Amino acid sequence: MESIKNPFMQDCSRRLLLVQLAGRGLLVNIGDMEIFLHICCGPCALYPLCVLKKKGINATGFFCNPNIHPFREYERRVAALEEVARLKDLPIVWDESGYGLKEWLSNLDGVTAQKERCPLCYEMRLERSAREASRKGFKYFSTTLLYSKYQRHGLIREIGEEKAKKYGVGFYYEDFRKGWIDGIEEAVALGIYRQPYCGCIFSESERYAKRIERLSKRLMKKEVLGHESNA
Ligand code: SF4
Repeated sequence: MESIKNPFMQDCSRRLLLVQLAGRGLLVNIGDMEIFLHICCGPCALYPLCVLKKKGINATGFFCNPNIHPFREYERRVAALEEVARLKDLPIVWDESGYGLKEWLSNLDGVTAQKERCPLCYEMRLERSAREASRKGFKYFSTTLLYSKYQRHGLIREIGEEKAKKYGVGFYYEDFRKGWIDGIEEAVALGIYRQPYCGCIFSESERYAKRIERLSKRLMKKEVLGHESNA
């Protein structure tokens, strides 16, 4: 299912598009454009892939997410992307560092608050994506993080453009959030696993904060009752 509601996206005949190239607006021919696309997860890749395809842009996916924990969850997300890659005939480069819990935590250096840790997490993934894009000879890179309504969109764009400059590649910017519902609908229709939390163990605990609090209260109550009956 590829439902694009935005009329601009439907205009496949447009061969020219304004691309933010390393922070500068340049008019480029997108007919032969190849993009190295950082993919945070399978479901988030669906809408961006659909848009790029309609524009005649070829994508190679790059799975580089040391932020996904624990390992069983990482495995599920890898499997979900393998399924998307199979269905969409998408080549994927799997980051050689694989499951990166220790590396990710060490890069955070004790930072746990969302406000500070997310920028570090974007940095880590976009730095490596831009570097790999450059090493592999791609002229442009982008990220499916630009699809998420829950991420800090402006900051992702800023970091992407900064890394693009650093590695001498272009950053393809597009606000993929406009296809949020389309992407979800397609993931559901295809039966692709949709994760309940962003990725790191901190985001998991934030996602279940109310349940954690309820459980904690229930256990405390038990303990108090236990003490009372022993008294
Ligand atoms: S919430 Fe998501 S973006 Fe933020 S640090 Fe965790 S995994 Fe990274």
